[in-house]
Amino acid sequence: MIAWKSRPLPELPGKSPELVLFDTALRRTVPVSPGPEAGLYVCGITPYDATHMGHAATYVAFDLLNRQWRDAGHTVNYVQNVTDIDDPLLERANATGVDWTVLAKEQTQLFREDMEALNVLAPRSYIGAVESIEWIVPVVEDLLERGIAYRVPGTGTEPDGDVYFSVDAAAALDEGPDAWWLGQVSSLTPEQMLPVFAERGGDPERPGKRNPLDALLWRVARPGEPQWPGDSLGAGRPGWHIECSVIARRYLPAPFDVQAGGSDLVFPHHEMSAGHAFACSGEPLARHYAHAGMVGLDGEKMSKSLGNLVLVSKLRAGGVEPAAIRTTLAGHHYRSDWFWTAEDLARAEERIRRYRQALPLTDAAAAEHLLNRFRLSLADDLNAPAALSAADEWAARLLSGGESAPAAEQNSGADLAAAAFDALLGITLR
Ligand code: ZN
Repeated sequence: MIAWKSRPLPELPGKSPELVLFDTALRRTVPVSPGPEAGLYVCGITPYDATHMGHAATYVAFDLLNRQWRDAGHTVNYVQNVTDIDDPLLERANATGVDWTVLAKEQTQLFREDMEALNVLAPRSYIGAVESIEWIVPVVEDLLERGIAYRVPGTGTEPDGDVYFSVDAAAALDEGPDAWWLGQVSSLTPEQMLPVFAERGGDPERPGKRNPLDALLWRVARPGEPQWPGDSLGAGRPGWHIECSVIARRYLPAPFDVQAGGSDLVFPHHEMSAGHAFACSGEPLARHYAHAGMVGLDGEKMSKSLGNLVLVSKLRAGGVEPAAIRTTLAGHHYRSDWFWTAEDLARAEERIRRYRQALPLTDAAAAEHLLNRFRLSLADDLNAPAALSAADEWAARLLSGGESAPAAEQNSGADLAAAAFDALLGITLR
């Protein structure tokens, strides 16, 4: 699949220190030490309600990671998927009478436009679930052969042959330091997992499963549903977790550096993707797991069912500058849960106005100091709010008239400050 277009990344003198990042699985902040090429996988959208502010917050958060790594001297192999076939997409298509392929195409295109507007660097590989089916089938066949997956018999309402991942068989494979166990990523107990599993697309009640937490790998064809050839599995379509697992393993080394997404993906999605990958290969999927907080509106979680989505495209159509949206997002630490408000957006717009006023007044020394503070803030678990506080102080000093530079120096200072905002925070001031 074609991704969107990245804007050029301005070059900066010097480089960032290495990143420390909060690792969800380890439950603490740890140094991330990638090799010359860092590997990042961020789970993509299911294209039926692109791009609400929760999506934007996640992709902008890990865009900061991408930018931090590049500034620290790494190249970045960034991979993202598009879940362009799954139950929620089909449900939406059926409910609205739109062909599911048309809905997926339209919403994926809208997402690309929003990402480009928000100055999110594009992934190197942008891969759809549909195009990955042919790679998924042999992986599921192998898990079946090795007894880590099994077929569930049909019932009155369900056909024979859906394939499930046995969490117990996978956890019994190995007890070495790299082994996967149920709870490795989420730290939840099975009792805590059950309600979350049911809420987030799992089917603990499905008769015939060996463990209620076993996850779907292959759904055999139902009348009226899209289906693809599955060789010995029979026609059908893949489950969601195996999709990401197979795509990540195909396009990234094992293990790669950071598996990321919204915090609603910790369980079951990232737990199961990690389990699938380990069961397939005996290698961990990723070294670190990072998650962005949820964005709500009016005291509620933002969700299509509640009808309280703030869409990036709608804001843009209403004349809101994408840099202001990006600045609003940067004002909240990526791991925190927060509520979108008009006042918050207005505050970000005011911030940008002041930064633009300050820009021609800055001298090289003040710009270098600002760049250094951006670097220290981002290297410390992507602390964008601290970077914006530094920018506020920088602007306040210049606008109070105390430190205006001689005219000859001003241009190089302004160029450097603008490049620092753009390269590190993705905020374009000019
Ligand atoms: Zn995923």
